[in-house]
Amino acid sequence: MKRKTKLIHGGIQGDPHTGAVSVPIYQVSTYKQEEVGVHKGYEYSRTGNPTRFALEELIKDLEEGVRGFAFASGMAAINGVFTLFNSGDHVLLTDDVYGGTYRIVSKVLNRMGISATFVDTTDLEAVKKAIQPNTKALYIETPTNPLLKVTDLKAAAALATEHNLLMIVDNTFSTPYWQTPLALGADIVLHSATKYIGGHSDVVAGLVVVNSETLAEDLHFVQNSTGAVLGPQDSWLLIRGIKTLGLRMEAHEKNAAQIAAFLENHPAVSKVYYPGLKSHAQHELAKRQSGGFGGMISFDVGSAEKADEVLRRVHYFTLAESLGAVESLISVPARMTHASIPEERRAELGITPGLMRISVGIEDVEDLIADLTEALK
Ligand SMILES: *Cc1c(COP(=O)(O)O)cnc(C)c1O
Repeated sequence: MKRKTKLIHGGIQGDPHTGAVSVPIYQVSTYKQEEVGVHKGYEYSRTGNPTRFALEELIKDLEEGVRGFAFASGMAAINGVFTLFNSGDHVLLTDDVYGGTYRIVSKVLNRMGISATFVDTTDLEAVKKAIQPNTKALYIETPTNPLLKVTDLKAAAALATEHNLLMIVDNTFSTPYWQTPLALGADIVLHSATKYIGGHSDVVAGLVVVNSETLAEDLHFVQNSTGAVLGPQDSWLLIRGIKTLGLRMEAHEKNAAQIAAFLENHPAVSKVYYPGLKSHAQHELAKRQSGGFGGMISFDVGSAEKADEVLRRVHYFTLAESLGAVESLISVPARMTHASIPEERRAELGITPGLMRISVGIEDVEDLIADLTEALK
């Protein structure tokens, strides 16, 4: 099956009982048992729900894995994956991971005895040097947020295998439409499905896909034990969103390419970060590793004051957290998504006060460019 066909025909098709072409919303908590333990595969909806299962089968097919899991949010998914580890374990993570990932690792998991080192995963020599005897996992985000750094997943997977590390990839920015980390050697891939997968700014959700039965059993045990499952209504909304994922990703990218070129030539912009630009440090790698460059662009306007002026003047770019939906959004990472990262750390990473991040929507690109032209005057 090719990619766009898989978005429509992957997972579970409709409802065998009625012929309904869309999977129904099974708004139910418990299921009748004929005798103790004799049932049709469902006992209680924390353990399993047919609508959630349809979504889990679909994301499993899209990410080319063994089993999928739907969580109540991206953070619940990330927490679920980290709950696979034990006190005393150490994990390595990409240095500019999503702010919430940095926060859970440095302020919550540390209390449970899981230690972490943040390292530039675009530099595999640095990753190698950071491996400790108790290191159990390599957690990679690529492209990263907000600087769009790209890590070589195949090479990282080889390093992880050599050192017996579980490789986990946050694939939120690329989606399985552009990039399938399990096929490149990762063990676990996860998403904030709140972003491109949902695509319409109406659901908060997380997804995980694993590449082995052992991991599937372990993660199901954790998910059922901790309980942060996605509800049936939200599962259905994600299945609906996924049907147009290919169309949307191509539209986001087409617009983003033109906006990135426009920003790169604009005198008020000192730096543009977009993997599709030839000036991007890992442009060739991004081209090789992913089918597309995505719809996220960051650019520097020099100061917090100038960033505020742009925010005041834009019409079609809504000032908001989040990304990946049909409407264009704009944000200032240093004061928003990355505010939970200490200031010195932000400076080290290059998340300056004048850095702006846009999530390019699928509006007419002429309107978006006209809007930015006005705002940057
Ligand atoms: C938003 C986001 C998360 C967290 O997901 P939520 O759905 O907000 O809990 C994790 N990783 C990345 C890259 C994100 O953008």
